Parts: sequence; structure tokens; C-alpha cells
Amino acid sequence: MASAPSEKWVYVFGDGSADGTAEMKNLLGGKGANLAEMSNLGLPVPPGFTITTDVCSYYYQEKGAYPAGLAHQVAVALDTIGTLVDCKFGDALRPLLVSVRSGARASMPGMMDTVLNLGLNDLTVEGLADRSGDRRFAFDCYRRFIQMYSNVVLNVDHSLFEEEIESYKDVHGLKSDTEISSEAWREIIEKFKNIVRSETGVAFPQDVDEQLWGAIGAVFGSWMTTRAVTYRQLNQIPEAWGTAVNIQAMVFGNLGMTSATGVAFTRNPSTGVKELYGEFLVNAQGEDVVAGIRTPQNITETARLAAESQSPSLEALMPQVFAELVNVYLKLERHYRDMQDIEFTIQDGKLWMLQTRSGKRTAKAALKIAVEMVDEGLIDPAEAISRIEPASLEQLLHPTLDPNAPRELLGVGLPASPGAASGEIVFNSEDAQYLKSLGRKAILARVETSPEDIHGMHAAEGILTTRGGMTSHAAVVARGMGKPCVSGAGTIQIDYAKEQLMAGGVILKKGDLVTIDGSTGQIMRGEIATIRPEMSDDFARLMSWADAKRRLKVRANAETPADAKIAREFGAEGIGLCRTEHMFFDQDRIVAVREMILADNQQGRRSALAKLLPMQRADFIELFEIMSGLPVTIRLLDPPLHEFLPHSDEEIDEVARATGTSSEVLRARVVELHEFNPMLGHRGVRLAVSYPEIAEMQARAIFEAALEAGTRTGQPVTPEIMIPLVAIKGEFDLVRKLIVDVAEDVQREYDRELDYLIGTMIELPRAALRASEIAQSAEFFSFGTNDLTQTTYGISRDDSSRFLAEYESKGLITVDPFVSVDRDGVGELIKIAAERGRMTRSDIKLGICGEHGGDPASIKFCEEIGLDYVSCSPFRVPIARLAAAQASA
Ligand code: ADP
Ligand code: MG
Ligand code: MG
Repeated sequence: MASAPSEKWVYVFGDGSADGTAEMKNLLGGKGANLAEMSNLGLPVPPGFTITTDVCSYYYQEKGAYPAGLAHQVAVALDTIGTLVDCKFGDALRPLLVSVRSGARASMPGMMDTVLNLGLNDLTVEGLADRSGDRRFAFDCYRRFIQMYSNVVLNVDHSLFEEEIESYKDVHGLKSDTEISSEAWREIIEKFKNIVRSETGVAFPQDVDEQLWGAIGAVFGSWMTTRAVTYRQLNQIPEAWGTAVNIQAMVFGNLGMTSATGVAFTRNPSTGVKELYGEFLVNAQGEDVVAGIRTPQNITETARLAAESQSPSLEALMPQVFAELVNVYLKLERHYRDMQDIEFTIQDGKLWMLQTRSGKRTAKAALKIAVEMVDEGLIDPAEAISRIEPASLEQLLHPTLDPNAPRELLGVGLPASPGAASGEIVFNSEDAQYLKSLGRKAILARVETSPEDIHGMHAAEGILTTRGGMTSHAAVVARGMGKPCVSGAGTIQIDYAKEQLMAGGVILKKGDLVTIDGSTGQIMRGEIATIRPEMSDDFARLMSWADAKRRLKVRANAETPADAKIAREFGAEGIGLCRTEHMFFDQDRIVAVREMILADNQQGRRSALAKLLPMQRADFIELFEIMSGLPVTIRLLDPPLHEFLPHSDEEIDEVARATGTSSEVLRARVVELHEFNPMLGHRGVRLAVSYPEIAEMQARAIFEAALEAGTRTGQPVTPEIMIPLVAIKGEFDLVRKLIVDVAEDVQREYDRELDYLIGTMIELPRAALRASEIAQSAEFFSFGTNDLTQTTYGISRDDSSRFLAEYESKGLITVDPFVSVDRDGVGELIKIAAERGRMTRSDIKLGICGEHGGDPASIKFCEEIGLDYVSCSPFRVPIARLAAAQASA
């Protein structure tokens, strides 16, 4: 990359103005852009500057070199901020100290940790001591700097330093770091320097410029660490974005009892309640709050009382600073029109803002915040709709603990991320992943989590930590993932070596069942019964806005009365797929079904079908009654018959008894029906072609049920009968004629009129291509995208997981085509079928009923090509309603 000398690589902020703005996230990263924006808003931000993401790109293209002019611009910017705070970088008397902070466009764990107090050396530490009048503070800063810099820039294991401090305390009988004197820190610092020399082979850098450029290089270097690369892959963040570097004058939260550091959310990130919500620590620096070293204090009195904490709140301790913080947070919310996650430091009673960004929140909180912000006039309903991740609604629809179920309480921690989860307890991320791969549920228990645990947290059903507050790593990440989390359960001890957990007298070993409730913080032994949650008013309001906005209708895939009821509760506008074979698997029906299949003549089949007719009719009556007035699409028998075949000798004997045939004859018939590739075998419409009497029985059951349910509910029923796996117009016509004939018989027998539609599934490429012809007799198409994906790709869905993950990691596909519709291939066929179908029959009804009907990205595709409805599993109906609203222009 060639660069003109005049190119701007460095953007300064501070003192009520800035070169950058919040809109410049691409260039300045999220942290840098928002520091600039806060400066522009006149908020108290320590002055600093941002080295742009373009420099990161340059650095990687030029193999670690920096653009010409950068060094000069950095030197000038350092002077500028030095002047603002009356200091100078490297000056012995008035040393400017800075933090070096990474910051990509999106907040990203895995990047370099922040280095604080950079600019200290043997000389400048004396200046800091004199100027602050506090030697102990100055040497505490210096030793922290050596520890941090050596760890994050020089890769020296930080436990080496901790051990040094511990052994000093042991020898001198001291309990806490705060008892260590300035002279003692000086001695320890010499030992630290020796550690650095023996670990790295060179001395700890005394030259402040070397320190600075070492830290800048480390930030850029961290963009390509395994941790960062993994995180980007998991979150679809392009590598080309790069990170910015922020260099900012230090303010000190460790300057005695009138100083502090803290983090806060402008609304409660778990519940969404409008309150300043956060934690702080007096006389502390940097990440002491989230690191869980000391237990942080509450910011508001209300929160302190709720937590029954003995340590004073910020509100009580520093009322003036608190009042200022309240002003700042209100201003930030009005400005950003969203809930903010803020970081601040108080130096000697003065508030300084160090970061703001949109805060991560639970689905429940997201919903409440969006709805209340509409009421507050900050955003409009369309914006509220766009702010909720449809998939996150699943968190709200999923079961919570049954309040009446007995429970054995093991302990209580902080309610860090709501929802209940049960599973086998494991103590490391590998075990959580392993259990998940076996299809089992894990609860990950850790003393605290770190970015290395992201995989395990993903795999676990829930997370439990014994240390750390509501803003600890575990809490923040779990909320982002929508996983239940209980953090800081201090009464519980975890023993990694023995792989066990101790709570009071109880010991849980790896693999024992445990339940956590992230809404209350409770930890319980065993697995506890759950119930379905009530839908909140916020949910109802957001959904009503979504319903008003969307064009696509949303139906559910449901066959049991229970599923149909849930579907209606969740707002389904009909059933898009009722699979009749599920009704055949019932205990008391399977014998009759087997009798029918194993009969070697029509006569035998008809007598077995006669037994099934009343059962099937009763099923449909119930379904039509529940869905009263709403459309119901019923698919004729679809799976290969072998799925119903008896396997064990006992089962064969039972069928033999029921039919009066011998077991030997039956066994021979089972062998006869064997198929090599049943998914492409004798199934779908092919069954109706071979055994028309099955389709006739089902049609009769549907029509008779429609008349009966119509009478019972007073709402006429218009069933939609769907013929699966059609490839050829002729086979559709053949079966259609059977159905029409049955309809005529039923109308004559009952002397009543029937209204009904007959359509087909489009799940074979041939059907999609011949859609215009098929539409001559089909009144609707429903895209069966599970089979259509299998048949278009030639990939068996049941076997795909073995290799598709590898395809994803090698970049051959971006998303599993069985999860999100493959627009280019399968999508193209859907488009062709829709166009050709409409060409023949302009008002043909078009829907989708595969797994994709509940996937937001696929729903967007359905909207774009103008389908009439999507149909998905009942629990996904609200997700589909919201996704459809977001998709509609
Ligand atoms: P992260 O991206 O992990 O949040 P930050 O760059 O925000 O890392 O730094 C972490 C913490 O370090 C901040 O929350 C703040 O407490 C402290 N910090 C960073 N810069 C400064 C500074 N200039 N003065 C005082 N503290 C700072
Ligand atoms: Mg960090
Ligand atoms: Mg931060």
C-alpha cells in the first residue's frame, strides 16, 4: 500500500473536541470512535489519540512495517495530549503516562489486553512520586506496568510475578497487597526486572519510545492470534477489518480512598429495567473490577440494598460523582438512543469516562428496552423491531423452573444471565465440548472464565462460576450467548484436580446432575422440572408491531393437538405442514399399520385401513377444531414403508397373531420390502401410486373430519391436501383424481358441499423445473426445502454433519444449507418453480415448510421472492413473525 506523506494515520480526541466521530468506527474502531464522540459531546474524557485500522492493514501487507509519517504523527499527538494534561512523555519531572488499548470495529475478546501506566521507568517513577506526593502509589503503578507489559507484550507468564509478590508477603507476614510499602515495591520491582531478563534474555525496556512501539506492535500482532482468529470465525468478522490502537493519558483510580474505577450499564442488562446498573472498586485500577480479585461494590443504593451488601454504594460514598455519572449516562442514552455499557475512573473525586458502547443484553432486556425506548420517544416501532435478534426470542419461549418442583439448594450466586439449565457438571471446556458431541447436556463450572473458555461456554447448557461479579467475563459472554449463567457463587468450592465441587456438606463429582437458575442465582442438585413461561406485555407489543409490518404469513408445522395449541398461542396463522405418518406411530395403531403394509393384496390392506380410518378421522377433527377457521395443510403418507416395519421377532409375532398369518410369511415379506436407499425409494407419491387405497383412506378421513369439525365449530373447514415428492405431472394427476373421487363420494353420502384445495410439495429438482406444467392441476406449492436441499446437493441430511463442518471451516460453504437456504442453488430452483408456477396459475398459493421456514435468513429470501407464507416448528413461530417483519421493506 503506497501512502502519501500527508495521509492521516492518527486521530486526536480530548478537551471537548476530537478529529473523529462515532460514525468513523471502520477507521477508528468502536472504542476509538466512541472516545472521540464522547469528547465531542463535552464529556470528561482523558485526552488521547487513535492509530487507524488502515495502519493495521498496512502493517500486515508490509510484513510488520509502518507507513511513513506515522512516527511523526504519533510524536505530535503525544505532545498535544501532554500539553493538555501538563505533562510530557518520558519527562523525568512531569511524566506523561498512557494506556495502550486495542479496539476493532466490533468488541472482540482475544485481542491484546490493555497496558496501563506506560511511560514509567526508573527515572519517571520518581517524577510521578514527587508530583503525586504518594511514593507508594507511584511504585504500585510501576510494578503494575511491568507486570502488564511483560505479560501482554513480552509474553512472560504473569504467575511468575504473582509468586514473587506472594513470597514477599509470606516472608514479611503481610496479608494484602495494600500493606506493601513503597520501599518494598522497589525491591520487588528489581526482582521483576530479573524475571524479565531471565525469561526474555533482554532487560525490561527503560526507553519510553521503545515501550510505546512495543505495545503498538503487540496490539497489531494480537489481531492474528489463534484466539482472535477463532472469535472472528465464530462471529463472522472479516479479517480485513483490522484493529485500531488507542493511546490515552492515564487517570488514576488507585490514588487513595477518593479514587475508584468502575463499569456500568445504563439499563439493567438482565431485566432491561431502567436503572444505572454496575459495580466499582475504591482505590483500584483498570480491570480490577472484572477480574474478580476483590468483590466490587454496587453503584446505586437500591442495588446495594437488593444485594444485601455491607459495602457502601457509590451513591452513598461519593454523592457528587454519582450525580455527575447519572447526568453522563442520561446524556449518552439520549445521544446514542440505545443502552450503553460504560467504563469510568474517578481520580481524586473527579469523574473520567473511558469507554462507551452499545451494551450486550439478554433477550428479555432487549425486548423491554426496545419497547420502553419507543414509549420514551427515543426510537420508533420499526427501529424497535430491527433491534431484536429474532433467534434470541427463543430464550424467552423456553422453559423456566417449575416453582412447585422440589429442589435441593446447593448455594446461591449472582443471577448473571437468566434461564434455567440442567446437565452433567463438568469443570473444563474440553469436557463440555465432548459431552455436547455425544448429544448430552453439560453445565460448565469454573472458578472464573476467560476468553479461552468461549468454546466450552458455547457447548454448555449453562455456566456456573464461583468468582466474579455481574460484569465478569462469564456473565457478559453468557448474556451475549443467551445462556443461563450463575456467577460469583462464593460459598461453593471447585477443585479442578479432583474434578469436583463442594457446596456445604455436599460433593458433586464430574458427571453428576446439577441445575442452575440464572434468573435467581440458585444452584440445585439434580434435574428440576420446568414449565413454559408466560409471555410478557413487552413481547405482545413488539409482536403486534411486527405483525402490522410484515407481509409474509406465518404458519406452523404441527400434527399433535399439543403442538397445534402451542402454535396458535404463539400466533401461527394456520398449519403449513401436518405430517400424517406421525399419527401412525401411536402404540395402539402401529399394529394395524403393520397389518396394512404387510398385507400382500389389496383386500388385506383395505381391511387394515378400515381399522385406521376412524382413528385418523378423529385426529383430524381435533386438529381442525383447534385451528378453527385457519388453513390446515395435510400431507399424505410420505416415508418409506420400511420405517413402519416390525423388527424384532416379538413384533412380527404380534402382527402375525393380529392378521392370522404365519410369522414365516411375514418375515419373508419384511425382506421383500427392504430398500437399499429408502430416502430415494418407495415413498411419497409413489406409495399412493402403488397403494391407492392408502391415499383414499386418508382423503376420506380428512373430508369427513372437515365436515364434522365444521358442524362442531360453526366455521367451515377448507382442508389443503398435499401430495409429497411429486416429480411428474402425471403422478400428481393420478393421485389428485383419487382424492377428487373420494370428495365426490363423501359429498354425496353426506349430502353436503366440500371446499378443499389439492396441491403438491416441491422437493425434487424435476418438480421445480416442471412447475408450470404441474401448476395446471396443483392449486398450491409448498417448498419442502429439507428434501429439496438433499436432492439438489445430492447430500443426505442425516449424514451431512460428518463433513459439512469441514466444508464450513475450509470456506467451501459459508453456512450449512440445511440450516439456511442455499440461495444460489436451492434458492434458484425455488425461484424458478415460483415463477413458472405463477405463469400458469397467477394466484397459486406458495409457501415453504422445511426447517428453513424458521430461519431468519431464509425467511428474508422467502420475502424477496414473494412467497405467501413460511411454516416452521411451533416454538419458532414468534421468531418467524419477527424475522418476516424485519424482512419486509
Ligand atoms: P477492554 O477492551 O478489555 O475493555 P480497555 O481498553 O477498555 O479494555 O481497558 C480496560 C480498562 O483499563 C478500562 O476499563 C479502564 O478501567 C482501564 N483504562 C484504560 N485506559 C485507561 C486510562 N487512560 N486511564 C485509566 N484507566 C484506563
Ligand atoms: Mg481486556
Ligand atoms: Mg473496556
